[in-house]
Amino acid sequence: MRLGESLAQLAEVESRLAALAAEAAAAGARAAGDSVLADLESRSDELEQSVRRASATLRQVELEVEELQGRARAQERSIYDGSVRSPADLQRRQHQLQSLRELISGREEVELAEMEGQEQLAAELGQARAAVAQRARELELLRQADASRAPQLGAETAAAAGERDQLLGALPESAVVFYRRIAARRQPPVALVVGGICSGCRLPLPHRLLEEARRDSLVTCENCERILVL
Ligand SMILES: [Zn+2]
Repeated sequence: MRLGESLAQLAEVESRLAALAAEAAAAGARAAGDSVLADLESRSDELEQSVRRASATLRQVELEVEELQGRARAQERSIYDGSVRSPADLQRRQHQLQSLRELISGREEVELAEMEGQEQLAAELGQARAAVAQRARELELLRQADASRAPQLGAETAAAAGERDQLLGALPESAVVFYRRIAARRQPPVALVVGGICSGCRLPLPHRLLEEARRDSLVTCENCERILVL
Protein backbone atom coordinates (compact mmCIF):
# COMPACT_ATOMS: atom_id res chain seq x y z
CA MET A 1 0.00 0.00 0.00
CA ARG A 2 1.23 3.49 -0.77
CA LEU A 3 2.40 5.53 2.20
CA GLY A 4 -0.17 8.25 1.55
CA GLU A 5 -3.01 5.74 1.45
CA SER A 6 -1.93 4.18 4.75
CA LEU A 7 -1.81 7.60 6.40
CA ALA A 8 -5.24 8.44 5.01
CA GLN A 9 -6.57 5.20 6.49
CA LEU A 10 -4.85 5.94 9.78
CA ALA A 11 -6.49 9.38 9.88
CA GLU A 12 -9.87 7.81 9.14
CA VAL A 13 -9.57 5.13 11.83
CA GLU A 14 -8.29 7.63 14.40
CA SER A 15 -11.19 9.97 13.75
CA ARG A 16 -13.55 7.00 14.14
CA LEU A 17 -11.86 6.12 17.44
CA ALA A 18 -12.24 9.71 18.66
CA ALA A 19 -15.97 9.66 17.83
CA LEU A 20 -16.41 6.32 19.65
CA ALA A 21 -14.53 7.68 22.68
CA ALA A 22 -16.75 10.79 22.71
CA GLU A 23 -19.84 8.55 22.57
CA ALA A 24 -18.56 6.47 25.49
CA ALA A 25 -17.74 9.63 27.46
CA ALA A 26 -21.25 11.03 26.89
CA ALA A 27 -22.80 7.75 28.09
CA GLY A 28 -20.50 7.75 31.13
CA ALA A 29 -21.51 11.31 32.00
CA ARG A 30 -25.20 10.40 31.66
CA ALA A 31 -24.71 7.40 33.95
CA ALA A 32 -22.96 9.56 36.56
CA GLY A 33 -25.59 12.29 36.74
CA ASP A 34 -27.49 14.93 34.84
CA SER A 35 -27.07 18.65 35.39
CA VAL A 36 -30.36 19.49 33.64
CA LEU A 37 -32.28 17.18 35.99
CA ALA A 38 -30.39 18.55 39.02
CA ASP A 39 -31.30 22.14 38.03
CA LEU A 40 -34.96 21.22 37.53
CA GLU A 41 -35.06 19.44 40.90
CA SER A 42 -33.54 22.35 42.76
CA ARG A 43 -36.03 24.74 41.08
CA SER A 44 -38.87 22.42 42.18
CA ASP A 45 -37.51 22.28 45.76
CA GLU A 46 -37.28 26.08 45.92
CA LEU A 47 -40.88 26.42 44.74
CA GLU A 48 -42.02 23.85 47.28
CA GLN A 49 -40.47 25.92 50.05
CA SER A 50 -42.05 29.10 48.67
CA VAL A 51 -45.48 27.41 48.62
CA ARG A 52 -44.99 26.30 52.23
CA ARG A 53 -43.99 29.82 53.31
CA ALA A 54 -46.95 31.35 51.42
CA SER A 55 -49.35 28.89 53.10
CA ALA A 56 -48.03 29.81 56.52
CA THR A 57 -48.42 33.53 55.81
CA LEU A 58 -51.93 33.01 54.48
CA ARG A 59 -52.91 31.00 57.56
CA GLN A 60 -51.60 33.79 59.78
CA VAL A 61 -53.63 36.46 57.93
CA GLU A 62 -56.73 34.23 58.10
CA LEU A 63 -56.30 33.92 61.87
CA GLU A 64 -55.88 37.70 62.20
CA VAL A 65 -59.10 38.27 60.23
CA GLU A 66 -60.96 35.71 62.37
CA GLU A 67 -59.72 37.34 65.54
CA LEU A 68 -60.71 40.83 64.35
CA GLN A 69 -64.14 39.55 63.27
CA GLY A 70 -64.64 38.04 66.73
CA ARG A 71 -63.82 41.36 68.34
CA ALA A 72 -66.20 43.17 65.95
CA ARG A 73 -69.05 40.76 66.79
CA ALA A 74 -68.47 41.26 70.53
CA GLN A 75 -68.48 45.02 70.06
CA GLU A 76 -71.71 44.84 68.00
CA ARG A 77 -73.40 42.78 70.70
CA SER A 78 -72.43 45.23 73.39
CA ILE A 79 -73.81 48.10 71.30
CA TYR A 80 -77.15 46.48 70.42
CA ASP A 81 -78.00 44.38 73.49
CA GLY A 82 -78.83 47.44 75.57
CA SER A 83 -76.16 46.76 78.19
CA VAL A 84 -74.36 50.06 77.52
CA ARG A 85 -76.36 52.99 78.86
CA SER A 86 -73.97 55.91 78.62
CA PRO A 87 -74.30 57.71 75.24
CA ALA A 88 -70.61 58.65 75.37
CA ASP A 89 -69.63 55.03 75.96
CA LEU A 90 -71.96 53.94 73.16
CA GLN A 91 -70.46 56.46 70.78
CA ARG A 92 -66.93 55.35 71.71
CA ARG A 93 -67.86 51.73 71.03
CA GLN A 94 -69.38 52.63 67.65
CA HIS A 95 -66.13 54.36 66.69
CA GLN A 96 -64.18 51.31 67.77
CA LEU A 97 -66.48 49.06 65.73
CA GLN A 98 -65.97 51.27 62.69
CA SER A 99 -62.19 51.11 63.10
CA LEU A 100 -62.36 47.33 63.48
CA ARG A 101 -64.39 47.02 60.27
CA GLU A 102 -61.87 49.12 58.37
CA LEU A 103 -59.06 47.01 59.78
CA ILE A 104 -60.87 43.81 58.75
CA SER A 105 -61.45 45.10 55.24
CA GLY A 106 -57.73 45.96 54.92
CA ARG A 107 -56.64 42.53 56.18
CA GLU A 108 -59.12 40.79 53.88
CA GLU A 109 -57.49 42.50 50.91
CA VAL A 110 -54.13 41.21 52.09
CA GLU A 111 -55.69 37.74 52.52
CA LEU A 112 -56.98 37.79 48.94
CA ALA A 113 -53.60 38.88 47.56
CA GLU A 114 -51.85 36.12 49.56
CA MET A 115 -54.35 33.58 48.26
CA GLU A 116 -53.70 34.61 44.65
CA GLY A 117 -49.95 34.52 45.22
CA GLN A 118 -50.18 31.05 46.71
CA GLU A 119 -52.26 29.78 43.79
CA GLN A 120 -49.71 31.16 41.34
CA LEU A 121 -46.84 29.47 43.21
CA ALA A 122 -48.74 26.18 43.41
CA ALA A 123 -49.30 26.26 39.63
CA GLU A 124 -45.59 26.94 39.05
CA LEU A 125 -44.71 24.08 41.40
CA GLY A 126 -46.97 21.75 39.43
CA GLN A 127 -45.18 22.70 36.20
CA ALA A 128 -41.75 22.33 37.81
CA ARG A 129 -42.62 18.84 39.08
CA ALA A 130 -43.89 17.84 35.64
CA ALA A 131 -40.62 19.07 34.09
CA VAL A 132 -38.62 17.00 36.61
CA ALA A 133 -40.66 13.89 35.80
CA GLN A 134 -40.30 14.42 32.05
CA ARG A 135 -36.52 14.92 32.21
CA ALA A 136 -36.19 11.84 34.44
CA ARG A 137 -38.13 9.80 31.86
CA GLU A 138 -35.98 11.13 28.99
CA LEU A 139 -32.83 10.37 30.94
CA GLU A 140 -34.01 6.87 31.71
CA LEU A 141 -34.61 6.21 27.99
CA LEU A 142 -31.16 7.58 27.10
CA ARG A 143 -29.53 5.41 29.76
CA GLN A 144 -31.37 2.33 28.52
CA ALA A 145 -30.18 3.12 24.98
CA ASP A 146 -26.61 3.59 26.30
CA ALA A 147 -26.77 0.25 28.08
CA SER A 148 -27.94 -1.63 25.00
CA ARG A 149 -25.38 0.14 22.78
CA ALA A 150 -22.47 -0.50 25.20
CA PRO A 151 -21.44 -3.99 23.95
CA GLN A 152 -21.46 -2.84 20.32
CA LEU A 153 -19.58 0.34 21.22
CA GLY A 154 -16.93 -1.75 22.95
CA ALA A 155 -16.62 -4.11 19.98
CA GLU A 156 -16.37 -1.23 17.47
CA THR A 157 -13.72 0.47 19.61
CA ALA A 158 -11.68 -2.73 19.90
CA ALA A 159 -11.90 -3.34 16.14
CA ALA A 160 -10.88 0.23 15.31
CA ALA A 161 -7.99 0.08 17.78
CA GLY A 162 -6.86 -3.17 16.13
CA GLU A 163 -6.97 -1.53 12.67
CA ARG A 164 -5.01 1.45 13.96
CA ASP A 165 -2.33 -0.74 15.55
CA GLN A 166 -1.99 -2.77 12.37
CA LEU A 167 -1.56 0.40 10.27
CA LEU A 168 0.94 1.84 12.75
CA GLY A 169 2.90 -1.43 12.78
CA ALA A 170 3.22 -1.42 8.99
CA LEU A 171 4.25 2.24 8.66
CA PRO A 172 7.87 3.40 8.86
CA GLU A 173 8.67 5.11 12.16
CA SER A 174 9.61 8.38 10.43
CA ALA A 175 6.21 8.53 8.67
CA VAL A 176 4.41 8.02 12.00
CA VAL A 177 6.44 10.79 13.66
CA PHE A 178 5.68 13.09 10.72
CA TYR A 179 1.98 12.20 10.87
CA ARG A 180 1.81 12.79 14.65
CA ARG A 181 3.46 16.20 14.30
CA ILE A 182 0.85 17.30 11.75
CA ALA A 183 -2.05 15.65 13.64
CA ALA A 184 -1.17 17.67 16.75
CA ARG A 185 -1.86 20.87 14.79
CA ARG A 186 -4.44 19.91 12.12
CA GLN A 187 -7.51 17.69 12.17
CA PRO A 188 -7.91 15.77 9.98
CA PRO A 189 -4.15 15.68 9.35
CA VAL A 190 -4.49 14.20 5.86
CA ALA A 191 -6.05 15.88 2.80
CA LEU A 192 -6.93 14.15 -0.44
CA VAL A 193 -5.94 15.89 -3.63
CA VAL A 194 -8.86 16.05 -6.05
CA GLY A 195 -8.36 17.68 -9.44
CA GLY A 196 -5.18 19.40 -8.28
CA ILE A 197 -6.98 20.97 -5.33
CA CYS A 198 -6.28 20.33 -1.63
CA SER A 199 -9.51 19.00 -0.09
CA GLY A 200 -8.41 20.38 3.30
CA CYS A 201 -8.40 24.04 2.32
CA ARG A 202 -9.86 24.00 -1.24
CA LEU A 203 -6.85 25.82 -2.72
CA PRO A 204 -5.12 24.71 -5.92
CA LEU A 205 -1.74 23.08 -5.37
CA PRO A 206 1.47 23.94 -7.20
CA HIS A 207 2.59 21.46 -9.85
CA ARG A 208 5.80 20.67 -7.91
CA LEU A 209 3.85 19.46 -4.85
CA LEU A 210 1.50 17.37 -6.98
CA GLU A 211 4.49 15.67 -8.56
CA GLU A 212 6.02 14.88 -5.18
CA ALA A 213 2.75 13.54 -3.83
CA ARG A 214 2.39 11.39 -6.93
CA ARG A 215 5.81 9.86 -6.15
CA ASP A 216 4.40 9.03 -2.66
CA SER A 217 6.74 11.32 -0.74
CA LEU A 218 5.37 12.91 2.37
CA VAL A 219 4.44 16.44 1.39
CA THR A 220 2.17 18.93 3.10
CA CYS A 221 -0.11 21.61 1.70
CA GLU A 222 1.68 24.98 1.90
CA ASN A 223 -1.56 26.62 2.94
CA CYS A 224 -3.22 24.26 5.49
CA GLU A 225 -0.21 22.07 6.35
CA ARG A 226 -2.08 18.80 5.85
CA ILE A 227 -0.35 15.75 4.43
CA LEU A 228 -1.32 15.49 0.77
CA VAL A 229 -2.56 12.17 -0.55
CA LEU A 230 -3.27 11.51 -4.19
ZN1 LIG B 1 -4.57 22.62 2.06
